[in-house]
Amino acid sequence: MSLAYAAQASAALEQLGLSVALLHLDQVSQQAAAESWSYSHFLGYLLDGELQERRRKTVALNLQFAGFPVLKRLAEFDFAAQPSLDQRLIDELATGRFLSEGRNVIFLGPPGVGKTHLATALGVITCELGHRVYFTSALEMARKLTKAMAENRLHRELNKLTHPKLLIIDEIGYLALDAPQSALVFQAIGKRYERGLALVLTSNKSFVDWGHIFAGDLVLASAALDRLLHRCTVVNIRGDSYRLRERRQAGLPALPHPTGGVAAPAAVAGGRSRERPAAATRDSSNVMSQNESEGR
Ligand code: ADP
Ligand code: MG
Repeated sequence: MSLAYAAQASAALEQLGLSVALLHLDQVSQQAAAESWSYSHFLGYLLDGELQERRRKTVALNLQFAGFPVLKRLAEFDFAAQPSLDQRLIDELATGRFLSEGRNVIFLGPPGVGKTHLATALGVITCELGHRVYFTSALEMARKLTKAMAENRLHRELNKLTHPKLLIIDEIGYLALDAPQSALVFQAIGKRYERGLALVLTSNKSFVDWGHIFAGDLVLASAALDRLLHRCTVVNIRGDSYRLRERRQAGLPALPHPTGGVAAPAAVAGGRSRERPAAATRDSSNVMSQNESEGR
């Protein structure tokens, strides 16, 4: 009888699709006998190997699906280089609670301060928690939606943006959207809001400037902000570009700025950077920093 069951074990594992357990069955059985494991210890050990491999595959698939431009982790982020940032706040976000709460996270700040790094790192954590993530820049998303609409498959494209547990929209405001693009991006934001699904956004523009991003449509911009900020953590990062800081520390001259002159911390309202150029001062009344928007 027991021999028959032993012979059946492999076939049963195969039928159940437990391929890793099947692969290790003989070796784990021998180890169990040699070390006098209890039956439940043996079974737990065998199944744990299967589960670990499944988790690894899920995470690898999630990371592949997410399409991060560069894989960045929180462990690689140097908090000492960014004293304006409250590490406890980032650590809280790293628990992933914002996902189940459908809370958005918005990183604001000048170029180079680590917004995309942190947004990606939260995305990687989400993948590791077993969830789907989709990373896109605002412009890429707007272009894909416009194309999809022209090809009569807007619904499917919107679904791609509303299904993942987390959608990361990078670089909102680097380039202004036109009116049809603005309406489409608004739709995607609205759909996620309705479903209580989290978004992570990065922007170099303060909220008061969002009208420009949405083709000058202030009504649309404020409707988008209303949804985004309803449940939201806004992380204002001030200070110097990390790359420029590294160049300076290496004794290299600053890079020429694309708009002429020398790259300097760009304008983001709400920032109190000591080195902010005077010309960059803007109305900061509408920008909430770090914890202020929590629980609105
Ligand atoms: P932003 O999106 O704010 O323009 P990025 O996140 O793209 O900035 O950062 C620019 C580069 O500098 C990236 O390679 C990023 O990993 C790195 N970087 C920025 N801030 C830090 C930091 N505090 N610690 C480690 N690397 C950083
Ligand atoms: Mg960026």
